[in-house]
Amino acid sequence: MNQPSEWEPRIIAFCCNYCAYAAADLAGSKRMQYPVNVRIIHTPCTGKLEMEHILEAFEKGIDGILVAGCLEGGCHFLEGNLRARKRTDRIRQMLDEIGEREVGIASYAMRMARKIEGQPLELTQITIERQCENEFIKDLAEPASKVEAIVSFGCGAGVQAIAERFPSKPVYAGLNTQFLGILEEQAVWTEKCMGCGDCMLAQFGGICPVTRCAKRMLNGPCGGSKETPCEVAEDRPCAWQLIYTRLKNIDQLDRLDTIVPPKDWRPAWHAGACKIVRAEHRV
Ligand code: SF4
Ligand code: SF4
Repeated sequence: MNQPSEWEPRIIAFCCNYCAYAAADLAGSKRMQYPVNVRIIHTPCTGKLEMEHILEAFEKGIDGILVAGCLEGGCHFLEGNLRARKRTDRIRQMLDEIGEREVGIASYAMRMARKIEGQPLELTQITIERQCENEFIKDLAEPASKVEAIVSFGCGAGVQAIAERFPSKPVYAGLNTQFLGILEEQAVWTEKCMGCGDCMLAQFGGICPVTRCAKRMLNGPCGGSKETPCEVAEDRPCAWQLIYTRLKNIDQLDRLDTIVPPKDWRPAWHAGACKIVRAEHRV
């Protein structure tokens, strides 16, 4: 993998109106610069910041978040800054725990299994931020040099990145990677995209029939479609019912008047491993 030599994190700064934002504003009026990888979001008070805002920013690929509010005792709304501190502490803890807890459970299971077999196993547990970027994998170099094999709980791409980085170590996948999806509710993920390489979401109101219709219908529902669920898979809503309702809600039903030609599957994963090169971002 080629990585830019100097990785720049993308940072969002949530700035309280009465202190940090006012300071940034003042700095701006004095023509003082701040780094281009920082985006400032004006908040009436950091107490208004919900956990969802922070998690959504991470979901959208932001690397770091700064919450800048008033000193304790100085909040315009008395306790907004204290509430913000509690929430950010909780999120920091959650983010730390997610990977570590999963790795801890799996390590325990492996240790127990080998103990029962009478072949005790020594395990080192490590979590890194991402397994698909060399920038983060490099933190594994030292611990990896001391072990015989690596079990990765990254997705299939992460496991392969680790295998490439440590060519002399056996690397095993700890998960079965199934799809590109989102967290629907606690412990429930659903597939949303199958990487067809020719995205048609704009046409279908942001709902993908390629992935979410069991028959991949592109020009309207199948004969078995009813309000819900899908006639093929009882546990899913009919994607075409969702598309219809969505387009109706946004007043774009006329999009369905256009006949979608046969899909070009050449850019999809079926044609072999895909490669994307963004020449403008290479250094
Ligand atoms: S149309 Fe293709 S790229 Fe777009 S969401 Fe569906 S599968 Fe993914
Ligand atoms: S019922 Fe709906 S989602 Fe299921 S196959 Fe038919 S059109 Fe697709």
